[in-house]
Amino acid sequence: MSRTRPVSPVLATAVALTVASFVVVAAVAPQATPAAAPALARVVILATGGTIAGVQPKEGEAGYRSGAVSIDSLVRAAPGLEKLATIKGEQIASIGSQDMNDFVWVKLAKKAAELLAAPDVDGLVVTHGTDTLEETAYFLGLVLQSDKPVVVVGSMRPSTELSAEGPSNLYNAVALAADPAARGRGVLVVANDLAHAARFVVKTNTTSVQTFVSAGRSPVAEVLKGTKTAYLLPAAFTASKGHFNTTGIDAMPRVDIVYAHENADGAPVNAAVAAGAKGIVLAGVGDGNATKAMIDALTAAAKAGVVVVRSTRVGSGIVRRNIEVNDDQLGFVAGLDLNPQKARVLLRLALMKSNDVQKVQQIFEEN
Ligand code: ASP
Repeated sequence: MSRTRPVSPVLATAVALTVASFVVVAAVAPQATPAAAPALARVVILATGGTIAGVQPKEGEAGYRSGAVSIDSLVRAAPGLEKLATIKGEQIASIGSQDMNDFVWVKLAKKAAELLAAPDVDGLVVTHGTDTLEETAYFLGLVLQSDKPVVVVGSMRPSTELSAEGPSNLYNAVALAADPAARGRGVLVVANDLAHAARFVVKTNTTSVQTFVSAGRSPVAEVLKGTKTAYLLPAAFTASKGHFNTTGIDAMPRVDIVYAHENADGAPVNAAVAAGAKGIVLAGVGDGNATKAMIDALTAAAKAGVVVVRSTRVGSGIVRRNIEVNDDQLGFVAGLDLNPQKARVLLRLALMKSNDVQKVQQIFEEN
């Protein structure tokens, strides 16, 4: 079950205003930029914590504390960054990303929108824990409207670990954020010498440095310390749509994920409804399916006005409408190729526009 913290109305409105005002700036920026471009790109790092900023209690020990190292130390640990870009940093939060929450998301989105609108900023890097990195990256891609590169980066090994890969990931992230060829490619995630699109990236391994993959897709780029970045996909393929803002919203709607399995009953669905969920994502078996008992509970929830999105626990593939489950009849939305955690992010934003099932299905087709 998810936890939802209310977001301050003032903060939410400020985000919306910032995002909205950027649209105008973005429309005029392309003509102004080339002549005024400085020798070095100007990149801002927004730090949120995570293992990339983690320290072990004692060198060589397996346990560690996430988000303990400041942004300055992160930058110092990656010598040569100053040759890539003029760097500024700001600490947004210092948390393990298992604790990521709406308060930090809104603060981060507001700051990112402000910076992207500034003519003296060429790109952003967000440092983040790897656990929920794909959710934050997808969220940012949905709410930010800018062509400038936004690169989210984490690491699997804490900063004090043998072969900590945080410094090289950070170096690659700054190189990408500084690269004009990275513009217009949507929010990117950098890890282990690869850049992935936020829409497709997924964490696949608990501890390995090769944990992020682009599910069912090619990565966006191979990156190597800023030299000869090889872009593997056309920019338009991963460009962010920035379809959402949070105007007038003081909290994002609660959406819970229920997990299907052998002998599952309707209890988790009913608990979600009782907790006030406005939407439920089914992490279904196979093609987004579940036991009759669970499907019956979801049908009752949908009838009561809760928007139900069918996704899958399988890890790849597309959940299409009306294949094994009759979405038309039961009033469900098909989650397509979004995994449950990303379907949840999109459903929360979609519900801020509409709770009409057809409209929400259309939003899923478009994002
Ligand atoms: N639990 C950590 C986090 O997500 C793991 C990591 O960063 O790799 O913050």
